Amino acid sequence: MRISVIGTGYLGATHAACLAEMGFEVIGMDTDPAKVAALAEGRLPFHEPALPELLRKHVQSGRLRFTTSMAETAAFANVHFLAVGTPQASEDGTADVSQIDGALRALLAHVDQDALVIGKSTVPVGTARRLASMAKKLARPGTTVELAWNPEFLREGYAVKDTLAPDRLVFGTDSGTGLPILRNVYATALAAGTPLVETDFETAELVKVAANAFLATKISFINAFAEITEVAGGDITTLADAIGMDERIGRRFLNAGVGFGGGCLPKDIRALQARTRELGLGNTMDFLASVDALNLRRRDKVVELVELALTGSGARPQVAILGASFKPESDDVRDSPALDVAARLHERGFAVSVFDPIARHSAAQRRPELDYPETIEGAVAGADAVVLLTEWRQFRELVPGDLDALVRRRNIIDGRNVLDAAQWLDGGWNFWQLGRKPAD
Ligand code: NAD
Repeated sequence: MRISVIGTGYLGATHAACLAEMGFEVIGMDTDPAKVAALAEGRLPFHEPALPELLRKHVQSGRLRFTTSMAETAAFANVHFLAVGTPQASEDGTADVSQIDGALRALLAHVDQDALVIGKSTVPVGTARRLASMAKKLARPGTTVELAWNPEFLREGYAVKDTLAPDRLVFGTDSGTGLPILRNVYATALAAGTPLVETDFETAELVKVAANAFLATKISFINAFAEITEVAGGDITTLADAIGMDERIGRRFLNAGVGFGGGCLPKDIRALQARTRELGLGNTMDFLASVDALNLRRRDKVVELVELALTGSGARPQVAILGASFKPESDDVRDSPALDVAARLHERGFAVSVFDPIARHSAAQRRPELDYPETIEGAVAGADAVVLLTEWRQFRELVPGDLDALVRRRNIIDGRNVLDAAQWLDGGWNFWQLGRKPAD
């Protein structure tokens, strides 16, 4: 079986390399010539652990190639994954599905053999059925193009592992069409015991957005309690530990902090609300507006803490931000809380320097107005406050002695609640965390 992956961003590049690893002949297609040129040389244009090795291995073996040509893609394969972007289209949160529509339309113009198109992108419910009828209408006479939906749950930072050994697979089809091919594509994972859910289009689409809505809610839930403990007292981490001991709740995704970001959770919960309104279900997903607002308020809170820490510090205090990516092990800065807070502090007149071990380049592209020293020492030198916003391991392991001699003032704000408060207070630092009532 020869397979194509259309759209070779974070998701598509990972999927293409992993399909090659599973033994298939794969072509990755993207409209971005720079991305295709890099991938074709075996160079990954973003950071993802374990993926560069896989990419190089299969580009070299010839099992994986890349192109900007849809004609070549259609001729090469008869199974096509759609992995293009579905960003937020407008203020009201609606998803922009034009990349998906455009990619399918372009593919259909070239397909002259029976084919299965498998959607992977995260889409509003109803998209797969609409695309299936578009495929029926636009397929060339004599060819049958079927559609299936196979949502993706990979986490950036663990993308290879999540693709080769996923928690579960979801196959959405119309009356089972395409199931034998899907089972064949994922034969290795299925043989290893990966749970499989075979369902209809709508359920498959909704499983993905429901999972993301649930995760976002869990994070904002604990952050809502952080707002309470900031005022009433109490320890947010102990609270999370204690409720997390209940198996029905679980401890993961209950870390209070500066909240979620990235290219998925924020836009997915907004798109779900917009789609629900389109379906005439007025307030069904209104709680997600609170989840979103709570999440964004945590960024305001960090800005407030920096201003509090630096009250009366004179003109243009210097702030060192530790972290730019939306989470560790990734260089993805899309809707990153860390970069957003850094930019807001810059707008307020602070001298801001940002250090991130991996995301320096992508952050500088998105926010060129900020300073990006190459080392953590460079970023904290002369700082009036240090603000930890992405929980990279090297930041989690910081101790006061690492920074004492570098900073101008010993103020640290731990926006991810990963540092040991006692250690920093004993070391003579002013220390703030989210969900902690300020000392009287
Ligand atoms: P991305 O922006 O990194 O990649 C999208 C790619 O599609 C880009 O390289 C773009 O050039 C390409 N593209 C756009 N229009 C095209 C066209 N007509 N033909 C071919 N290529 C085209 O986005 P991503 O993060 O990879 O996300 C892709 C989809 O997967 C989204 O729906 C996202 O919600 C979903 N998803 C992402 C992740 C993740 O962790 N990134 C996880 C699960 C699901």
